[in-house]
Amino acid sequence: MLLTITTTHRPATDLGYLLVKHPGRLQSFEVSGGTAHVFYPEAGEDRCTAALLLDADPAARSAKGPGKGPDTFTLRQHVNDRPYAASSLLAVALGRVLRTALRGDSRDRPELAATPIPLELRIPALRCKGDAATFFEPLGWTVEAAPIPLDAAHPEWGPSRYVDLTLRGTMRLADALNHVYVLLPVLDDAKHYWVSSDEVEKLIRAGTGWLAEHPAKGVIARRYLAHRTSLTNEALSRLSDVDPDADSVIERAPRPESLAALRRAAVVRQLAEAGASRVLDLGCGPGALLGELIRDRRFTEIVGADVSTVSLEMAARRLRLDRLPDRQRARIRLLQTALTYRDDRLRGYDAAVLMEVVEHVDPPRLPALAASVFGHAAPRTVVVTTPNVEYNVRYPGLEHGRMRHHDHRFEWDRAQFGAWCDDVAARYGYTVTRHGIGEEDLEVGTSTQMAVFKK
Ligand code: SAH
Repeated sequence: MLLTITTTHRPATDLGYLLVKHPGRLQSFEVSGGTAHVFYPEAGEDRCTAALLLDADPAARSAKGPGKGPDTFTLRQHVNDRPYAASSLLAVALGRVLRTALRGDSRDRPELAATPIPLELRIPALRCKGDAATFFEPLGWTVEAAPIPLDAAHPEWGPSRYVDLTLRGTMRLADALNHVYVLLPVLDDAKHYWVSSDEVEKLIRAGTGWLAEHPAKGVIARRYLAHRTSLTNEALSRLSDVDPDADSVIERAPRPESLAALRRAAVVRQLAEAGASRVLDLGCGPGALLGELIRDRRFTEIVGADVSTVSLEMAARRLRLDRLPDRQRARIRLLQTALTYRDDRLRGYDAAVLMEVVEHVDPPRLPALAASVFGHAAPRTVVVTTPNVEYNVRYPGLEHGRMRHHDHRFEWDRAQFGAWCDDVAARYGYTVTRHGIGEEDLEVGTSTQMAVFKK
């Protein structure tokens, strides 16, 4: 089973940093389906290809079976095509071996990990039920799926169920890998292991930012969850529940709309009180706050900035930018930027908002974010919101010690947030006040904490 990933982004060998796998070495990993090898058939400045090859071990698979009675399922697997065709096993290997790249993290090339790059993914033997294009095209891929003949010597026997799949597109490597991670088992439609409820979690996580909007999300969820109706329903209801206004599943649980809406209202109030009319929404995500800002005439120039192009596209769709009358359209702009790098386009505004953004940034990168926002963009007012980790004990669905969202790099208590605010204020010449958002609990405070910086 083979997947190759090629880029022509220059220098193409940066692919090694994104995958966290050195182009000069063959690396092998024991995974649940056998042994996975990562190597680079080509590694030049102009073009670099990484290969993930899974050597499937038929005996290794019974371990994850339902474990009841004679395992006819596994027996069947022993005599079929599994070792040669890409399938859910390859997806499992991908999840294990390229975990960091799937998360979109890169210590050495964080900006590149966040940037769409030209990619070509190829799976030379993929068992494919249905048309691969239905699944990949809506995600922005150009799809080539060449049917593999059953027997090359007997073309009259017609095609096999296998295709040689090539995907071409320009996107973030993490998005590309997540598409493949979810859609391989969907195309195969024969999950090799017992599907339990954690699979719903995995699907929601890997589908972040694209699955809720996918026209075939119903088939995708059903096949991914091995046709288990209850799990499929759970996944679909969670997907349709994905309120792009809130960035956390947990916060929505107890009271559906409230916290995200309260947060937006509190932020808008601060901007209005500061008399700001030209405002930046930094890390705007899919644009929930932008939607409120544009409805409010006090804000004459609004910029939404985010590192994620997928989020910006969602924002453009939600705001119906293409249908706004010219006068309105002129008030708003979306731009892609990484906040840990100085960006001159962000200078000269009255106010900036960082709503639920800092906790998505790796702590060692926070000083760079502070330098670019408070030091370089330097608006008169900056409003920051972030979760108050002390409040997490009030979320019954949240296991002790877990964070509210899988992409959070940390969650601060009130003292930690206070210390960061004071340090930033002192360093960049601001004064800061702190406020709570949400119902105040005497012991643990409010769910969201907000700081307002002024200079
Ligand atoms: N402010 C929005 C979205 C919060 S989710 C809201 O409250 O609804 C965090 C957002 O920050 C994501 O959209 C993510 O893409 C963005 N983000 C994280 N790190 C970033 C960085 N270094 N530069 C720019 N945006 C970043």
